[in-house]
Amino acid sequence: MNMPDPIKFANLPTKIEKLDRLSHKLGKDIYIKRDDHTGIEISGNKIRKLEFAAGEAISNGCDCLITCGGIQSNHARATAAVAAKLGMEAFLVLRDAEDAYVEGNYFLDRMLGANIKLITPEEYKHNRADIMEDIRVQLEDTGHKGYIIPEGASNGVGSLGYYKAMKEILEQEKQMGIKFDAIVVAVGSGGTYAGLYYGNKVNKNSATIYGFNITASREYFQETALKLLGEISKYTGKHISVAKDDIDIIDGYVGLGYALSQSKEIEFIHRLAKLEGLILDPVYTGKAMYGMVEEIKKGSFDKHSNILFIHTGGLFGWNRKQRELLSSL
Ligand SMILES: *Cc1c(COP(=O)(O)O)cnc(C)c1O
Repeated sequence: MNMPDPIKFANLPTKIEKLDRLSHKLGKDIYIKRDDHTGIEISGNKIRKLEFAAGEAISNGCDCLITCGGIQSNHARATAAVAAKLGMEAFLVLRDAEDAYVEGNYFLDRMLGANIKLITPEEYKHNRADIMEDIRVQLEDTGHKGYIIPEGASNGVGSLGYYKAMKEILEQEKQMGIKFDAIVVAVGSGGTYAGLYYGNKVNKNSATIYGFNITASREYFQETALKLLGEISKYTGKHISVAKDDIDIIDGYVGLGYALSQSKEIEFIHRLAKLEGLILDPVYTGKAMYGMVEEIKKGSFDKHSNILFIHTGGLFGWNRKQRELLSSL
């Protein structure tokens, strides 16, 4: 497979900023990479993956993008925006949920003109691939060509976006005169982690890449990452050898489950917002940064001194329940 030419949508390189007051509190130098600033409609980490996925879609002659996600999926919204920007049609297969109908990403999906099919959580779990394939076949019957992007664009081609981001980080390190010895990211479908991990290895960089899973388990994402590393190397032609336990996924911060919040997490996001003028999202970055701070306090990061957290975006993901929790603090 050839590495597709990425289509350049994102505002790159994204800034790296030091969190001075948090660093002081924790006795570590903590930096944040603002991948929440890749754009507005196309904000967040998914856009780096979509640069490559859309590049492949176009080189395959496709005129429609088909993908799936939760009803408040950041990835689905980013796909809707990318499709509109390229003059393509977006088809989104979304897992139905009660409380988020008129706001956030779902609202933006509609605004951006995406075709939306809502399915039940059961159907989503078992049949989403078939449902997307059906859409592709129907499009073919009407003379269109659909390109299917899996959940989170976490496959080999999508993960190339974070392989490339790792190079960006290494260049920024040189400019800033800093060496990050730990890089921390939230893990939802695994492509961001896998791309960074791959880039770190291939560039013979010595940082440890930590993922905090916000759904499923350490075991699940160690296996997912291994699979994705293999898929990435099919595009680059550079194979790396990695054992499962080399994959540093830290479990324990899923809390009540995917996209469900506890008041201690919302309180943490609130405290950090006041401390640093920085807003995290409740589904991914809030849980991951909360986990990172807890682990630093426990001593798990004692061997690291310069830590880079990737702000992967997600600010349209705040829902009514989470805002209610915030206002009750
Ligand atoms: C999707 C997402 C993640 C997780 O990235 P994966 O590559 O799916 O693991 C993290 N943060 C935000 C805001 C996201 O939307």
